Parts: sequence; C-alpha cells; structure tokens
Amino acid sequence: MMQQYLTIKAEYPRTLVFYRMGDFYELFFEDAEKAARLLDITLTQRGQSGGKPVVMAGVPFHSVDGYLGRLIKMGESVAICEQVGDVATSKGPVERKVVRVVTPGTLTDSELLSDKSEAMLLSVHPGARTGCGLAWMAVTQGTVYLAQCESDALGDWIARIGPSEVVYSADASNTFEQRLLTLTAQPLPNGQRTVAVLRPAWAFDSGLGERKLLEQLQAASLAAWDAQSLHDAHAAAAALLNYAEHTQGGQLPHVRSLKVARDDELIDLPINTRRNLELTHTLRGETSPTLFSLLDTCRTGMGSRCLKQWLLEPPRDRSVASARLDAIGQLADSQLWSGLRDTLKGANDVERVTARIALRQVKPRELVGLLQSLERADALSQRLAATCENEDELLAKLGHDLSPPTDAAQMLARAIAPEPSVLVRDGGVIADGHDAELDELRGIQNNCDSFLIELETKERERTGIANLKVQYNKVHGFYIEVTAGQASRVPEDYRRRQTLKNAERFITPELKAFEDKALSAQERALAREKFLYEQLLDQLQAFITPLTRLARAMASVDALCALTERALTLGWTTPTFANEPCIEIRGGRHPVVEARLNETSGGSFIANDTALGPKQRMQVITGPNMGGKSTYMRQVAVIVLLASMGSRVPADTCRLGPIDAIHTRIGAADDLANAQSTFMVEMTEAAQILHAATPNSLVLMDEIGRGTSTFDGLALASGIATYLHDKVKCFTLFATHYFELTELPARQHQAVNVHVSAVEGNGKSGIVFLHQIEPGPASRSYGIQVARLAGVPTAVVQQARHTLTSLEAQSENSREQVDLFAPPPVADDPEPSPLDAAMAHIDPDALSPREALEQLYLLKKLSLKHPS
Ligand code: ATP
Repeated sequence: MMQQYLTIKAEYPRTLVFYRMGDFYELFFEDAEKAARLLDITLTQRGQSGGKPVVMAGVPFHSVDGYLGRLIKMGESVAICEQVGDVATSKGPVERKVVRVVTPGTLTDSELLSDKSEAMLLSVHPGARTGCGLAWMAVTQGTVYLAQCESDALGDWIARIGPSEVVYSADASNTFEQRLLTLTAQPLPNGQRTVAVLRPAWAFDSGLGERKLLEQLQAASLAAWDAQSLHDAHAAAAALLNYAEHTQGGQLPHVRSLKVARDDELIDLPINTRRNLELTHTLRGETSPTLFSLLDTCRTGMGSRCLKQWLLEPPRDRSVASARLDAIGQLADSQLWSGLRDTLKGANDVERVTARIALRQVKPRELVGLLQSLERADALSQRLAATCENEDELLAKLGHDLSPPTDAAQMLARAIAPEPSVLVRDGGVIADGHDAELDELRGIQNNCDSFLIELETKERERTGIANLKVQYNKVHGFYIEVTAGQASRVPEDYRRRQTLKNAERFITPELKAFEDKALSAQERALAREKFLYEQLLDQLQAFITPLTRLARAMASVDALCALTERALTLGWTTPTFANEPCIEIRGGRHPVVEARLNETSGGSFIANDTALGPKQRMQVITGPNMGGKSTYMRQVAVIVLLASMGSRVPADTCRLGPIDAIHTRIGAADDLANAQSTFMVEMTEAAQILHAATPNSLVLMDEIGRGTSTFDGLALASGIATYLHDKVKCFTLFATHYFELTELPARQHQAVNVHVSAVEGNGKSGIVFLHQIEPGPASRSYGIQVARLAGVPTAVVQQARHTLTSLEAQSENSREQVDLFAPPPVADDPEPSPLDAAMAHIDPDALSPREALEQLYLLKKLSLKHPS
C-alpha cells in the first residue's frame, strides 16, 4: 500500500494527498506533518516504510469538506485519492486514483465556494517582446476570457481579474517571476492571497492553446471572436485549460464560450478606485456597508454574482446600460419585478449545478433543485413573454433564453426521486417507476417485512414458542431469536447463530435462502442506481449549453429586478446619456452615506449639484475637515458608475457624456510590505493617474501633497492640478486644504472654485457643517474647531489657537507673491532620451540571443541618431 501511495504522491509533489482508507482520508509523512500543523489534527505513527516510521494523520471522510475549506483558505491544494477498485475482489491494495485536485482557483463544491463571488483561475504567459498573454476562467462558469496587454499593464489586469490562483511557466525568466509574485502578493479585496502555481513549459504552447480553444468551442476558427492572432493569450489558454482539466480529473464540457477582453471596451476602474469608492469592500476589508451590499437584494447567488460583474465591469459603450435601464423602466412600470422576485426566491444556483453536471460532480438533491428551478424559469419566461411587445427588448431576449429545455426537465422528473438521499451510494436516489429492474430489486426488499411477519407466525405455530421473534440487524443479518429458557424447544433444522445472555439466535435454511436473496437484491439495487445515475448524467450532457444560457438569463433577470427594487425603494432616477463631454448632476446623493444616515437617524443627506462640461472641467474643492468634500467627490464617481452599469441613480437628474475611466487618489496608506512610504505611495498613484487619464476620464484627487512638507506638498499639488487642467484635460474634482490653490481658476479658465459650507456656531461644538456645495473658495479651514469636536484636550486646542494666530501674522508680514501656476522657465525634468526610453524597455532575461543582437543594433542606431 505504501508503494501505491508513494507512486501517487510522486505525481503530486506540491499538493497534499488525501488517501482514502475506509472511512478516512489519510495523509502520510511530510503531508501528515503539515496537515497536523494547519488543521490541528493528531499525528500518529504506524509500522515502517523504507526504514522510516510511517507518520500519518487522517480526517473522517464525512467531514472532509470542512477540512478542505480550511486548507483552501490557507492557499493549500489537495489531491483527493479515492478507492476505485472493488474491495471484495482485489488482490493486494485496492486500486486507487486521484479523482480531482481541489485548489483555490478551481473550486466547484458548493460548500467551498462563496455564493456571491467567483473563484478565478488566471494563466499568464509573457510574450517574446514586451506584451503578455492572459487567459482566465471560473471553472463553475462556461466562459474562457482572453486578453493581451503590455507588461506594465499586467498589475491592472491582475487587480481587475482578482484571481484566487495564477499559473505560469516553470521556464519563466526570473525577472518575470519576481514581478508576477510581487503583483500577486497584494491581498485580494476579501483579504485572501493569490496562490501562484508553476506549470511545465510545454503546457504554454500557442498552437496547442488554439487547438484546445477550438475544441472547447466546437468551432473551426477563432475569427468569429477576433481572437485568431492573440498568440500569447492562446499559449496562456493552453495552460489554463490543461490545469483546469488536471484538477477536475477530466474534460470541461460546459466550457463553450469565449470572450476577448480589450482595454478599450470597459470603463477603467483601477484597484485604487474600487477600494476608495468602497465598491465591494470597505476600506477596512468588510463586505458591508459598500455600494454592492446596498445594491444586492438579489434572490439568488448567481444574480448577486452577475450584479457584481455589472458593477465592476461597466462597458464604455452605452447601448448595454441603455438596454438595462429600459428593462428596469419596464419592470417598474408593469409592477412585474415583485412577482418575478417571488418566483426567483428559492431557485437554486443553476449555473453552478450545470457546471457540476458537466464535471460529473453533481449531487442528487442538486438535481431536484434544478428541476424545481426549471419550473420557475418556465414561469419567468411566460411572464416576460406576456409583457414584452418587442422581440428586440432585453427582457424579451432574456424571457426567450429562460424557456427550459423540456426534455431535460422531463428526464429529471422521471428519473430522480422527489426526496433523494444526499449521496448516490446511500440509495433511494432514482425514482420508482423509472427502471423495471430497479423496481423489481426494490420489490424484493420491500417484501421483506411481510415475509418476516409471515415466517414469524409460521415458526411460532410450528415450535409452540409464543415469544419467538424473526429479526434483522446489519452485523448478523437475519435470525430467529428465542429466550434462553425456550432454546431447548427449537426444531432440528435450527442452526445456532449467536448466543446472548438471555437469548439464543438461530437461522433456518429457509431464512438463509431469503437472506441471500434480500441482501444481494440490496447490493444489486445500489449498483443499478449508480449505473442509472451515471446514465442520467450522460443524457444531461446534451443540455449543458441551453442550461448555461438559461442560468445566465435567470441571473440577469434577478440582477435587473434587484436594481428595480433599489431604484423604487431609494427614489432613484433614470440617467440620460449625451455624446458631448459632460457630467451634469442635480440633487446628487451618496447612496451608502445616505443609507447610513437613515439607519442611524443621523439627519438627512444634503443633496448637491455638479456641473462639469467642455468649458468647466475642474472643480477645486475647499472647506473644513468633516465638511463633506470626500463624500461629495465619491458621490459623483458613484453616480457616474451606477449610470454606466445601467442602474438608476441617486439624483434628481443626471446627464452623462462618454467616460473611459474613473481614477481616484484618496487617503494615505503605507505599503510597508513593498517598502513604500505614505508619500511614495501617494506620488506613485498620482503618477499613474497623470499617465493614464484622458479627456474622457473622471479623476478624483483628495488632499494630494499632504505627505510631505507644506511647501513641497503645495508645489506638487499645484503642479499636478495644472497638468491635469492643461495637458490631460480630464474631468477633475480636486479637494485640497491648500488655500493657495483656489487661485488656480483665475488663470486656468476651465477650473472653478467650490466649497462645502460650514458656519461657526456658539455652542459646544463651535462649528455647524452644512454639507452644501457652493460656488467660490472656502473662507477658512476650521481645523482647530474640528480638533476640539474630536475631543482633543482643551490645553492643546488653546495652544494651537495661539500658534495659529502668530503663524498667520508672520505669513502676512513676509508674504511674497509666488506665482504657483506659472509655467517653469526651462524643463528641469526632461523627457527621457530615445536611447534611454529604448533601454528601459529591454528585459535582458527575456531575450533570445538573436533578439539581443537586434536590440544591440537598434541601440547603436539610436545613439548615432541622438548623440547625448
Ligand atoms: P476631511 O477633510 O477630514 O477628509 P471631508 O470634508 O472629506 O473631511 P467627509 O468625510 O466627506 O468630509 O464627510 C464627513 C461626514 O459628514 C460624513 O461621514 C457624513 O456623515 C457627513 N456628510 C458628508 N456629506 C454629507 C451630506 N451631503 N449630507 C449629510 N451628511 C454629510
């Protein structure tokens, strides 16, 4: 057995092998030591193997899910090795095989997956030059995504995909590996870390990838997806599919669709924006209160996941948002949403159940759930068909997709028992009347009771023993029991089976014959059920594509109904889209802050207007701490995002021009893990925004320049504001405490001053925040009043007042007019020379000798053309 174990273990060196022995999964040697440490289970020793004591630890098979869940959370992977041979007939150890590998990025079990988010598996392949190929998927979905990007954009893609696991080639250069490990070292918003897995270099083959994709898609060319030339992504896809198959122990018949993600299709929401706007996690890493937790009143897990995807991946093209807004309008006007939600409630996760059918991992009760969900889908489909007049409407299309494949529903209804056992091997899974052979075998078992009663009566009469009993138990089978006092009266043909303290147990030839028949019927019935279940799974394979489509439609209807419910409950309005650049909001609110104020009855939210357009692209926002600057800026971004995903918005009106990205630079956080100070982080983020933003981007800058000395900070803040205004020309909300910056609109004419209002009150607080955005700069900063409000000791407040007065007097006396916004006389930070720029792009470890030579010629040419 140890030999068998060691042979299997050799194939899974970096994975914990759970080796099935009876009712336990056992781990051996280093695996056992590691599992004992991680799971706090007992380590034992038994016998010897190769001269070493066999160290082992085990977990009971029926509670394996709990242990798996804990290990996966810690980033471990587990190979499940089952007994596949027949225990009764095998000579030597029963045959065992790894049936699947459970890893963080390839989870399929409902017990291990979160309802509301996907576990993503990403494969990355660096191209020959500076590009990178990416392929990713959730194994429980049917779609592979491909993308190619410049290698400096890799971080953004990884942040966007949020993979639980990333695979890369064992032959990758050191530089690439280090970079990838650094990029994936950041915890995901849910606090988990991405696990990086090395795969053999041959798995990253572009030709193989293309062939595998064509096989999955059952297509002859990738041209329909415009994906035929994405060679680096094909190589990544080869390894992705190979690894997913490896973990699932077979093919992926449900993976039938492909999407190519392109840079310019989605509104760019960099990781900082997602974090700062608290889209799915608060800044502290909690899942509530966030924009998603406010929006998500979906009735199903797949609806929640769909809604989250809409929120995090808003398309730039408005047609998608417009179609969703029309659908919300129809659902609201027809009152249909509430009935649809009642029907959706209790539907099971058709998407994941379908994937598990394809992977042959589905449990009987999930199939009963599926059948009920198909009935619900049918009801939804009919309701939508009755409401929609136009075939092109989104709701009409969804209604069409929701129509269930009737054959599949009938097949399930016929084959599966209404209340099946949890596992097939426990029997009682296949419905009566589905299979004649099974019915007959079950008949024998059912006749058992009447046979035993008849036999008991007969034997009592025959022996004259009135308290004789015919019984059955699992260990001893059937027997006739008589009390010890009556034992001498039993007939000749009674054979003793067992002696108890007060009774004797016997068997007769007739009872033995019945026992053989009954027990073998039970065994044969179980085997028959297993066979019929497998046959049902075979037949269901034909319906994977329509079931996947139905699941997506159900998820979309759920998400649309949730958005409708939210819009009606929270009093949101439909935004309109314009072709010219503009963000015009009247009566805008921050939905999460507003909801919190309502909950805590902390007063009502003060609505504010925003007017940004071609002639007014920047607002310089001043006002006291706690005045509401951050809330105001975030609310503009949140409204823009909600409109772009196709939701109604918390505003009286909203008109929105084209938007390609939302960038935010808010708050200060040290990145100690990567040895970056607060100020370094601040400047790095600012630099990224200055490079990436375009005239169609919305940029939020909150308190830039605070992490350094006043003069440095002020100088940098004014430089950044000027650059955004003059060069980038994006929509900018620029909140600052540097009053000097309120001079900017005097020279930069597309900028305007606004401030959040506050008045100095007499009472204890000394200040009243009005949270109203008003034109013009703030008159003063109220920092000392806010400190007092926060409970800073009176002595400190008094000292601060005194110091402030002298500082202000000092600065009045020595104020020299510095023109903050004048262009510098000569550029003291010149653009890099073409030679330097070319050198910066070279990654020596990634070059073949021939490419290195080509680069050398290129550099030589550049140096002759641009001598320094
Ligand atoms: P700081 O400069 O210290 O970061 P700030 O000006 O950015 O402060 P916010 O953090 O936006 O202030 O707001 C502080 C608090 O004021 C919020 O938590 C919220 O409770 C309340 N608030 C902000 N805006 C509004 C509003 N429009 N209506 C009602 N309450 C508001």
